[in-house]
Amino acid sequence: MDESPQSFDRVLSSMCTPPHPVAREAAERFLATNPGDPASFPSVARLEERAVDTLGEVAGLDDPAGYVASGGTEANLQAVRIAREHGRNDANVVIPESAHFSFRKAADLLGVELRVAPTDADGRANLDAVAELVDADTAGVVAVAGTTEYGRVDPVPALADLAADAGALLHVDAAWGGFELPFTDHAWNFADAAVDTMTVDPHKLGRAAIPAGGLLAREESLLESLTVDTPYLESRTQVTLPGTRSGAGVASAAAVLDELWPDGYRDQRRRIRDTAGWLADELDRRGYDVVDPELSIVAFDVDTRVFEALRDEGWRVARTGDGELRIVCGPHVTRDVLGEFLDDLDRRAADVGTGHRANPGAGSR
Ligand SMILES: *Cc1c(COP(=O)(O)O)cnc(C)c1O
Repeated sequence: MDESPQSFDRVLSSMCTPPHPVAREAAERFLATNPGDPASFPSVARLEERAVDTLGEVAGLDDPAGYVASGGTEANLQAVRIAREHGRNDANVVIPESAHFSFRKAADLLGVELRVAPTDADGRANLDAVAELVDADTAGVVAVAGTTEYGRVDPVPALADLAADAGALLHVDAAWGGFELPFTDHAWNFADAAVDTMTVDPHKLGRAAIPAGGLLAREESLLESLTVDTPYLESRTQVTLPGTRSGAGVASAAAVLDELWPDGYRDQRRRIRDTAGWLADELDRRGYDVVDPELSIVAFDVDTRVFEALRDEGWRVARTGDGELRIVCGPHVTRDVLGEFLDDLDRRAADVGTGHRANPGAGSR
């Protein structure tokens, strides 16, 4: 094998970050276990229960039902499946246009009609627009707590009320935001609103090894709507989408949640928040249009030639649908790294002649 894994040094637009050392160690130890067969692999099954309990604490839910999924995509798909089981035959699900593309896969696979509501100017779900799309066949409404592009948090309690009035379930997608939001004033979780299901991914800001997503449900009966019989296993039923699953992902999630919840994640939130605020200020001083970072994602307008030049220099950066360069300030994105990035940005902007100020003032780092 002549490839080695690339370093995270210049990865600035990923929702993922290197796993925490305890997550890495647990992933290696439990590599050869399968939580999909708990009768044969009971220890990793116990770790999964622990992980779900702690994810419940993260999301403000006592006695949570749920499991460690392969990622946010599977968790969102399963949530749509739960909503469909709960609804009528011609079920539709209403999502804000800021929702992750995984809901399109879910709707496609499950034969559910997806209704997409425009967001407001700030990128949050627009209540009137959602209300207009909800009808008697609506089985689920989705709220995003930490959108993938801008880190926006939808008005979860109001969307929950809307869903309840329509007899639909409310799903919150906190795949990325779930480990930052507990330390903010946002109303986003099971304790804040009548939330039915939630996605919260340990393999993003939770610092578990991939694959470790999280699906939570307010009560066991919601999860049970996913049950299928499993004739060849000692355990008689299964709610997960995959059969064989990664014990590495499950064990790493359990280990890192034990290690970091809540104090370690609180410190992490403080650090990434400070970094995002600092970066937004630095860009603002240079004259860039910066989208105000609500959580730790900073998006700013950038000339396409500058963007391409930065990619050519090895910066792993990506753009939003509207073309802004988007920096996800995960724990590995330090001020030192961003200082180097800003130097390159200044140089490339000067080459192209975008008219942005370079290196303004002293003590920027
Ligand atoms: C990343 C993300 C997902 C998808 O999760 P995967 O683990 O990549 O499958 C879903 N929703 C949101 C908000 C995300 O940020």
